Amino acid sequence: MRAIFIAVGSELLDLDRIDTNSLYVARRLREKGILMDMKVVVGDHMDHLSWLVKKSCQRAQLVIISGGLGPTEDDITREAVAAALKKKLVFQESIVADLQKIFQRRGMAMPEINTRQAFVIEGAEVIANPAGTAPGLYLTEANCQVLLLPGPPNELVPIFEDVFARHIAPAANYFIYSRTFKLTGISESEADASIADIYRKYRNPLTTILASPGVIELHFLGRSKNSDEEARKLTDELAEKVRDRLSRFIFADKDVSLPEVIVAELKRRQFTLAVAESCSGGGLGNLITNVDGSSEVFLGGVIAYANSLKTGLLGVTAEVLNKYGAVSTQTAQAMAVGVKRLCGAAIGLAITGIAGPGGATPDKPVGLVHIHLHAADDDKGARQLFSGGREAIKLRSEYAALNLVREHLKGLDNQVS
Ligand code: AMP
Ligand code: MG
Repeated sequence: MRAIFIAVGSELLDLDRIDTNSLYVARRLREKGILMDMKVVVGDHMDHLSWLVKKSCQRAQLVIISGGLGPTEDDITREAVAAALKKKLVFQESIVADLQKIFQRRGMAMPEINTRQAFVIEGAEVIANPAGTAPGLYLTEANCQVLLLPGPPNELVPIFEDVFARHIAPAANYFIYSRTFKLTGISESEADASIADIYRKYRNPLTTILASPGVIELHFLGRSKNSDEEARKLTDELAEKVRDRLSRFIFADKDVSLPEVIVAELKRRQFTLAVAESCSGGGLGNLITNVDGSSEVFLGGVIAYANSLKTGLLGVTAEVLNKYGAVSTQTAQAMAVGVKRLCGAAIGLAITGIAGPGGATPDKPVGLVHIHLHAADDDKGARQLFSGGREAIKLRSEYAALNLVREHLKGLDNQVS
């Protein structure tokens, strides 16, 4: 089933309003295996909208339109859809009575202008609006279901849910099964390059790759007309192939964050952690302490932004700083060792880098970050070159540091087995 969403409202084009209704609707449709093919934002413009609705109905079996059902002159969705489908608008007295009741409850007389909301596209089902005045309209035209919804999200949701349950979901007839992998330590393009040959063979399941600084998500959505079992089999087949290729980067197969995974793993082993942060400015400690229960494993740390603190608190020697610089493997290592000792932690974790936009030198560009982990039986670091603005570089550094902890703990697992 092809689905198109049309968000109507000039404010969505040039003021600081953004269409969120399509996100809600897309998520609900997806849960029934209906994937949105297009979404379009259009101003309150009769010709544009009517043209768009006509074209959409030729192309899709489901067209959902939000906004423009209000009582004012700029609300033209009813008229535009009627024109597109060559239908009449019929005045429905019973809607006026309902509107009058709504205004009565508010202790007001119904403004004359609201009678516009009593016009119904010929043949459409009127769906009551429990949260406002504009009723929804639902009709089928040839092979296409058309749904008109009011723009305010609190009004759109109950009307959409009503029509979704009675008309859309039953017609969808799909069983779906989804899986997610969360990865770190790999970029979006690297992840894509290493699995493209696998997932491109499949139109079903659908694969989506989402990137945010430090974390990549892979989503697989399998659909079947026949059974839950078949949808699950399709999804599992692809997901397991992908897992084989990328297992060393996968930190979760459900909706948990990397800091949550790290805190849980540290708890399980009763290890404590301390951090020494330069360019991340406390962001690593912030990520860890956002996790409920982190106090069991996180001791704290030092934001050693100035070299004087790197030396005075963490014991990084002036010789190391002078010879290699504050952004170097040697300084990162000394910071990790220093904070482990200072805090009495099992693991010391350090970040030092150049978040930019200033501060670069010819051999040390913006985005250069050294991270380092020091523990009794392990000492490892990484030199990274991150792209993006200041905040993205800081965040990527924090996730890279957490990934070092993950790799350290995985290394211990492998030693045991
Ligand atoms: P309307 O139904 O066109 O009268 O829209 C009324 C109000 O609903 C607008 O001023 C917006 O604040 C909100 N709204 C309309 N369309 C959307 C949309 N696509 N996403 C989120 N809010 C919307
Ligand atoms: Mg509007």
